Amino acid sequence: MPAQPTLSEVIAALDTLWPRDRAEQWDAVGTVCGDVSDPQARVSRVLFAVDPVQQVADEAVAKGAELLVTHHPLYLRGTTTVAADTFKGRVVHTLIRNGVALHVAHTNADTADPGVSDALAGALGLRVLRPLVPDPTDPAGRRGLGRICELERPLPLGDLLERAAAALPVTAQGLRAAGDPAMPVATIAVCGGSGDSLFETVRAAGVDAYLTADLRHHPASEAREHSPLALLDAAHFATEWPWCEQAAAQLDAVAEREGWDLRTEVSRTVTDPWTAHAPSLPQESPLSRAATAQQTAPTDHDLTPGAPN
Ligand SMILES: [Zn+2]
Repeated sequence: MPAQPTLSEVIAALDTLWPRDRAEQWDAVGTVCGDVSDPQARVSRVLFAVDPVQQVADEAVAKGAELLVTHHPLYLRGTTTVAADTFKGRVVHTLIRNGVALHVAHTNADTADPGVSDALAGALGLRVLRPLVPDPTDPAGRRGLGRICELERPLPLGDLLERAAAALPVTAQGLRAAGDPAMPVATIAVCGGSGDSLFETVRAAGVDAYLTADLRHHPASEAREHSPLALLDAAHFATEWPWCEQAAAQLDAVAEREGWDLRTEVSRTVTDPWTAHAPSLPQESPLSRAATAQQTAPTDHDLTPGAPN
């Protein structure tokens, strides 16, 4: 007869999947709220999500979850208040008042085996070869940041872009790419979340393309000047959401093994902060207007470039 596990039993299982001591020094992982010392606290439902925002906390309550597991921390830098008139404090109050615990697996989930980038690679149908930045403490060489992958057969960059856009959750940004759309891609590095600090490692790996999120002007521009490496840039949320499904399946497997009466669910709430996107209109562009004006008459209007950063 399957029995509902206690909160502390489920948290212990999460700590086995994503040990807290494997998180980066600056990170804040583990249990944020929840009475883990209460032997009566039982868990029947667990909700997985990327961001511990109010909408997700409300969703956990509405779904009757006693535990919310998120990838991003609620408090990364510490606080002096959880008053409900602060937006994070309100999340804490919503959760505690409704008996929902919050647990975070962040950089310890990024580098896990399987980790965030395995889930991203899996969503795109890529075959994972090895970590992009291997964790030196893993003798098996499977843990680490990012993944180097290969496609089952080379695809033109344009087709890979379409495939990635179809495979990842819908966001306002969609996907953008840098590189010749006809360029064949056979190998690709992927990194869920912000990956623009890894360009040097990606170049050293000798892959054809790099898929990550939050690519900024200067790192991306310099990477493109450096080598023909193609870039694919997705919304941060979209690159990490596949982990939620992978993580829920991992906890399902533990529940099955332990004989727990436990249901997992993955939030489908899009918590990407961007909500709209307007494609550029080539005919309306000031660049085409300037070209037309230059053809007719010289202008003393001086284009002032913005600050470099
Ligand atoms: Zn992230």
